[in-house]
Amino acid sequence: MRRDHREPVIAYVGIGANLDDPVRMVQHAFDLLEDLPGCHVISRSSLYRSAPFGGIEQADFINAVAEVETGVPPEMLLSCLKETERNMGRDLDGPRWGPRELDLDILLYGSEIIEEPDLTVPHPGIALRNFVLLPLMEIAPDLDIPGLGPVSELEVDRSSPQITKIDNDLD
Ligand code: ATP
Ligand code: CA
Ligand code: CA
Repeated sequence: MRRDHREPVIAYVGIGANLDDPVRMVQHAFDLLEDLPGCHVISRSSLYRSAPFGGIEQADFINAVAEVETGVPPEMLLSCLKETERNMGRDLDGPRWGPRELDLDILLYGSEIIEEPDLTVPHPGIALRNFVLLPLMEIAPDLDIPGLGPVSELEVDRSSPQITKIDNDLD
């Protein structure tokens, strides 16, 4: 039997923003992910406010993680995420870890390990970033990360970068 698309997998997408109205942007990002063809948002983490990381002086970030069921292959999903970032006004030539309207990273794509020039999955920052691990653990406490093991057994630095969970309500 010919297959035109893959069986759906569960992917986790890291969301970050620190320009304009970042809380609203991250909330909107969940809806943008739901609207991507072949993608369905299964769960949304709380929003977290974290101090900028990477040495560039800039505003605090709002971060979250989405659990997404998708039949879209990983390279195509990355293109969709980049297009979404661009649509939200991001200058994709801006510096790594610099200020941005929206950042969407593929944290995990099922249990796949991908090492392509433009795509590394699991995302190499997962284990080092509390603003990724805390929302990820919140929505997927039983997750097993390829190459890292159970997410529940990973050590999280809860104080660096400084991070607080914030209210998810719009009003
Ligand atoms: P970091 O990836 O360390 O969080 P960043 O999000 O600031 O840094 P970007 O400028 O958004 O980095 O992206 C740089 C490049 O990273 C992208 O053009 C993309 O091709 C590549 N990349 C590699 N792996 C991934 C991934 N898992 N998710 C998203 N982008 C990735
Ligand atoms: Ca990132
Ligand atoms: Ca990115």
